[in-house]
Amino acid sequence: YFPVSDTLKRLPEQFFANLVNKVQKLSSEGHDIINLGQGNPDLPTPDHIVEELKTAADNPAYHKYSPFTGHPFLKEAVATFYKREYDVDIDPETEVAILFGAKTGLVEISQCLLNQGDTALLPDPGYPDYMSGIAMANANPVFMPLLEENGFLPDYNELNNADLDAAKLLFLNYPNNPTAGTATKQFFDETIELAKQHNICVVHDFAYGAIGFDGQKPQSFMQSAGAKDIGVEMYTLSKTYNMAGWRVGFAVGNPSVIKSLNLIQDHLYVSLFGAVQQAAQEALLGDQTVVEELVATYEKRRDVFVEKLREIGWEVPAPKGTFFAWLPVPEGFTSEQFADLLLEKAHVVVAPGNGFGESGEGFVRAGLLASEKRLAEAAARIGKLGIF
Ligand code: PLP
Repeated sequence: YFPVSDTLKRLPEQFFANLVNKVQKLSSEGHDIINLGQGNPDLPTPDHIVEELKTAADNPAYHKYSPFTGHPFLKEAVATFYKREYDVDIDPETEVAILFGAKTGLVEISQCLLNQGDTALLPDPGYPDYMSGIAMANANPVFMPLLEENGFLPDYNELNNADLDAAKLLFLNYPNNPTAGTATKQFFDETIELAKQHNICVVHDFAYGAIGFDGQKPQSFMQSAGAKDIGVEMYTLSKTYNMAGWRVGFAVGNPSVIKSLNLIQDHLYVSLFGAVQQAAQEALLGDQTVVEELVATYEKRRDVFVEKLREIGWEVPAPKGTFFAWLPVPEGFTSEQFADLLLEKAHVVVAPGNGFGESGEGFVRAGLLASEKRLAEAAARIGKLGIF
């Protein structure tokens, strides 16, 4: 047998593997499981985008390698998208990197900017891929707790100066997975000031950039003055256009960081299938009412779910963005115990908060990724347990 490399050994274990196995077992026994545990959008990709792919797939030019760092037309579409949505000027040639899903950029950025033993700041709880990249770069994580009393924003005053001076990278993600917290322009302005003071590159993960509720459009990091001097923003079509399987993401921002992302992507992927890039252009520039409809769908689901949970006596906050609800665990249970109980007794799957980091203990994450009817049913089943 071939022993795995030290780099691979540093990769965190798949925390949810245990849960996935239990879900599979219960499903195979014929139980009706309501799975709110994952982050895979349940709605289909809009028709006009699928149609564009079908037409484009017939174009023999796309059957060859695409330009190494992506088609210029897609980079231009990204710049048009940022101007239209955020009134931000992006140079398509030097300030856009096309990614094989935002995930690849979020992992590779550590390889781009960190040397062995370097420090990176990241949110706790947080999306696990930041840590995967840091581990693969053999760098050191410093976790920034996201606490409810701070609106799930990191408190930079709690970081010590040695860590701030050592840090080369800072990961942020708003609207936030898993807490559903949102950021203000003021918070991003303060972040830029801190990053400039300590010479840190900021990576803002804007995966849920389109999904804000109650008429609140999420703030882009790029809308803050000076953002391009010190950082990049990663975006994905996975959530905005229900295109998770298509693997289209991009980064915008600081030209030198974009250059290094392009370099690593070039070595690894030689860009996405050209027809997918053409369909991605259609997504960004075509009919945007599909996005409004998608946000309205999640908002209605949120309203039903929160109302029904409150009706059974579970005092939960209403998420302001993303398609997740971050729910406080009742006293007497750990996150894992409570998630296990919901699975075993109510056949409702939620993700235990500690799977996203230590500070996630005390919460479970439920995805708004089922119909209103199923979400109401999930709440009713939880109500029958008589806990609240
Ligand atoms: N960032 C966050 C916070 C996410 O939740 C996800 C997907 O779940 C991603 C990034 C990954 O996006 P992509 O599908 O583009 O790789």
